Amino acid sequence: MLPEKSLDGRVAIITGGGTGIGFGIASEYARLGARLVLASRSDKHLEPAAQALAAGGVEVITVRTDVREPDDVDRMVDAAIARFGGIDILVNNAAGNFICLAEKLSPHGWNAVVNIVLNGTFYCSRAVGLKMIESGRGGNILNIVATYAWTGGPGTIHSACAKAGVVCMTQTLAVEWARHKIRVNAIAPGPVETEGAGSKLWADPDFREAMLRGVPRGRIGTVEEIAHASAYLVSDFADFITGEVLVMDGGQWLGKGMFGR
Ligand code: NAP
Repeated sequence: MLPEKSLDGRVAIITGGGTGIGFGIASEYARLGARLVLASRSDKHLEPAAQALAAGGVEVITVRTDVREPDDVDRMVDAAIARFGGIDILVNNAAGNFICLAEKLSPHGWNAVVNIVLNGTFYCSRAVGLKMIESGRGGNILNIVATYAWTGGPGTIHSACAKAGVVCMTQTLAVEWARHKIRVNAIAPGPVETEGAGSKLWADPDFREAMLRGVPRGRIGTVEEIAHASAYLVSDFADFITGEVLVMDGGQWLGKGMFGR
């Protein structure tokens, strides 16, 4: 756990910051002294999250944003700068996902996920990156991806392909923007208990059981674990780390050797 004030005064935009992993990251950054911008489509997600954080004395605003819309993303950035004067951290956490075999997936379903995950991550990174470059102070971008970016994701081809693109974006921007003092990293979680994931991806107890058999560590990860690592990656303690993807999956994607476990 990082010491308090590790992110003192830093301004962090967290997309999808009202729920699940995004809210966990927001809460940890708040503990470390950051000022926050929570951005997603629904006030029903954003407002209770912001109120909970503000009750603890955190400076926080919400901006209703659809990351698929470049104009919305520009408004999000303008609102952050109008309130806090600059942006130090962007967490591209917003995503959509559902299980569907490739042959049953419509172009609409494909685009819905790719537009949020791949295009949305680029629109946000570009809009925030331009401001970080302009300021001369640099900053940090953290992308939340998934391990099926490397393995392929049967049943979630839209999300797996989009996350693979975001891994490539992480590595590309890390190199292009290093000269602007912008670090770009990612976290690839395995299964993490959130309402969004649990209710859609492993709601069936048999499916959940089967999934857990494939996790050498034998359990589902927690939001807090992802939040602590995310704080480290955007902190000055990680100043020499860029273009990295930290896998946090209890060994799940490695556990498939020739003789199994
Ligand atoms: P979640 O609670 O459902 O979070 C998704 C967030 O994205 C929501 O807050 C949602 O808010 C926001 N969002 C969706 N579409 C958006 C859009 N078009 N524009 C702006 N915001 C949008 O799920 P989670 O489990 O915490 O997932 C968070 C991240 O972790 C995602 O990137 C996911 O792929 C990744 N991940 C999760 C797991 C897991 O097991 N939980 C595993 C691997 C990777 P609104 O509805 O208000 O827009």
